[in-house]
Amino acid sequence: MEKRPFVTLEQLKEITKTYPTPFHLYDERGIRENARRLKEAFAWNPGFKEYFAVKATPNPFILKILREEGCGTDCSSMTELMMSDACGLKGREIMFSSNDTPLEEFQFAHDLGAIINLDDFTHISCLEETIGKIPETICCRFNPGGVFQISNDIMDNPGDSKYGMTEDQMTEAFRILKDKGARRFGIHSFLVSNTVTNDYYPMLAKILFELAVRLREKTGADIRFINLSGGIGVPYRPDQKANDIMVIGEGVRKAYEEVLVPAGMGDVTLFTELGRFMLAPYGCLVTKAIHEKHIYKEYIGVDACAVNLMRPAVYGAYHHITVAGKEDDPCDHTYDVVGSLCENCDKFAVDRQLPAIDKGDLLVIHDTGAHGFSMGYNYNGKLRSAELLLKEDGSVELIRRAETPKDYFATFDFCKVMEPYG
Ligand SMILES: *Cc1c(COP(=O)(O)O)cnc(C)c1O
Repeated sequence: MEKRPFVTLEQLKEITKTYPTPFHLYDERGIRENARRLKEAFAWNPGFKEYFAVKATPNPFILKILREEGCGTDCSSMTELMMSDACGLKGREIMFSSNDTPLEEFQFAHDLGAIINLDDFTHISCLEETIGKIPETICCRFNPGGVFQISNDIMDNPGDSKYGMTEDQMTEAFRILKDKGARRFGIHSFLVSNTVTNDYYPMLAKILFELAVRLREKTGADIRFINLSGGIGVPYRPDQKANDIMVIGEGVRKAYEEVLVPAGMGDVTLFTELGRFMLAPYGCLVTKAIHEKHIYKEYIGVDACAVNLMRPAVYGAYHHITVAGKEDDPCDHTYDVVGSLCENCDKFAVDRQLPAIDKGDLLVIHDTGAHGFSMGYNYNGKLRSAELLLKEDGSVELIRRAETPKDYFATFDFCKVMEPYG
């Protein structure tokens, strides 16, 4: 499918009068419409809730929009918990799915009344010693081991991943937790990320539903919810077909009817914990072409770099690029689009077919709404960009200002030395 940005050159020209490039821009309308589709796809399951994976886009304005659409948050660190609390999310609107968890984070999650998802069997005693008891509602993360294969090109190795518990450990955990006072149980698992197929969630659901039936039989635990977690992907490439969330919801419903309902477990609530699917397509990185360079290849140098979006540099990930205003020009040039880091991996695109790019052109790097800004860093002394929200009425709001040198120097004891530089 052809990929078009959600902003036009005219809008970008207007925005860049106030906010210099580079910046991440989010599309409120797209975020809301997508969140509503997800809700509709699982409307057959009373109590269904999406817990947005905060790590994908940790911005309070985004969390508030999603909360208005009925979403909670999924947190994995102290600051993500703090942000959820500050955004008004309460108690069971927060899921704490962490691993290698610092004890003080168990305590804080418990203080907030969040649902705690235990990544490991040994965390039962850690949690109990830390908060002085076992919460009445508790979730455990499952790792089936082995290889999980959806199709020829979509697979992963849960057996090599550090997360979750074996089935024997899950069984033992549920028995112990029940003895210690847990009353309501949840099951969680995350097997493959960024799946562009409608089959992942239904396959995962079947595995977890069958596990739930076995766990209930063996332990008598009252399983209240099953969290399908993240992993539904987005089509980063124009030749990929987007997932159809309605088909996915229907596939999960079928597995539910086949496995849970006959087992007398037709009252189990489903949760999701999506990040990428909720936000990636509804954010873009806007950057300006500031140099062109002709050596053994043709380079376009832009004012963003890998610190603003590290996925291409670290995973070789594809992000589509549109030259604003040249949407319909022929892609008859081959460029490497690069940033200014002293690292040769700092390339947003390699050998990409694009229209002729002139200095000053605005480039829209697509699908950066999740795992974009949030994975940013300060290498080479580069500063984090601003985040802007394109609101439904067409106006633009600054939802995070760009860092300044003062932010970068703020953690030095000799901050005073840097004072002349503000
Ligand atoms: C990262 C993560 C998610 C979200 O994953 P996406 O691929 O962005 O959907 C959900 N749950 C947990 C525990 C995660 O670590």
